[in-house]
Amino acid sequence: MNKPAIEGGTPVRSTKIHYSHQSIDEKDIQAVVDVLKSDFLTCGPAITEMEKKLCEVTGAKYAVACSNGTAALHIACMAAGIGPGDEVITTPITFAASANCALYCGATPVFADINPETYQIDPAEIEKKITDKTKAVIPVDYTGQVVEIAKIREICDKYGLILIEDAAHSIGTLYDGKPVGSFADMTELSFHAIKTITGGEGGAVVTSNEDLYKKLLLYRTHGITRDESLMAHGSEGPWYYEMVDLAPNYRITDMQAALISSQLDKLAEFKKRKQDICKKYDEAFGKLPQLFVQKEITESDTTRHLYILRIKPETLKIDRKQFFEALAAENIICNVNYIPVYYLQYYQQHGYKKGLCPNAEKLYDEMMSIPLYAGMSDQDVDDVIAAVTKLCEYYAK
Ligand SMILES: *Cc1c(COP(=O)(O)O)cnc(C)c1O
Repeated sequence: MNKPAIEGGTPVRSTKIHYSHQSIDEKDIQAVVDVLKSDFLTCGPAITEMEKKLCEVTGAKYAVACSNGTAALHIACMAAGIGPGDEVITTPITFAASANCALYCGATPVFADINPETYQIDPAEIEKKITDKTKAVIPVDYTGQVVEIAKIREICDKYGLILIEDAAHSIGTLYDGKPVGSFADMTELSFHAIKTITGGEGGAVVTSNEDLYKKLLLYRTHGITRDESLMAHGSEGPWYYEMVDLAPNYRITDMQAALISSQLDKLAEFKKRKQDICKKYDEAFGKLPQLFVQKEITESDTTRHLYILRIKPETLKIDRKQFFEALAAENIICNVNYIPVYYLQYYQQHGYKKGLCPNAEKLYDEMMSIPLYAGMSDQDVDDVIAAVTKLCEYYAK
């Protein structure tokens, strides 16, 4: 049998492929150059254009572009009125930002376990974690497939909770034919370099609620406004602005907004390509008894952001770490998304204990993110499949 590279065999590939890579074309580059030659580098028309496109893509009435997805989550929590004494429920299988946004507001993140097959936050677990302090739920469309949003919406309505969807992974995903962005009170998007649509950095909140929209605008820019209706003492002249609340500066530049707009024109194409790659992966890995394939929520028509390769440890002679390293030796460079948030040192030092969410912890021990991005060639996809298959067969128990 073909020896794995890590044991002195020949790697499946001679060049490295990483778990994610941006897809930038000449149109994207020209869009940024055009802004650099224009009058506005910030607060300009490229931002208005980006926000308009986000409304079209998400079905929301309003969009507020900001500096990154973390900033978007923060202003969403501020707009929701989250503060000290409040609890906010989210999943542990996410990037730290989904929980940190509650901490920024002085509130307490509470973690609800995931469904072991879809990896999404489990609505029944959310309901178990609700107390009279619970103010909001922040479900994460992990890997790009939408959470069980209808059930979660129902729970939020039943208990009077604000629903903030972390859609950092799921732009372009549909649930029951409707786009992500049309379900929650506020939906956060990220345009970080590894996301499906990128501006290098960038983020946005979309909402169809006008009150929340006005607050989001305020909290994006220092709590400063020129809107006289918000001023206690009225305007002193055409130059006048007021600071009516304390907030950060989370503006995005027009260069980033132009790049994001240009990328949005390719969303359907990116979605299709990623779906095709996932289909190939699912078919190949579904045949290997050493692997578990993530189950799809049936209502979700997914723009996949991450492909999770999950091993069944009892079927293999090697564990996740060794599998990860063996793939690296084959020149397939993976990542692990994510370390359960409450495992992180800061959370551990603030009273969170391991053992809190067993399904999430088990997933963490068994998974890695393998290459998935629109620019992958068919050869790249075949190489990943060949390497994974080779390792599963060689190390099978
Ligand atoms: C990327 C990401 C964010 C936001 O990250 P930024 O880098 O600040 O744009 C939030 N939540 C999840 C799940 C993410 O993957």
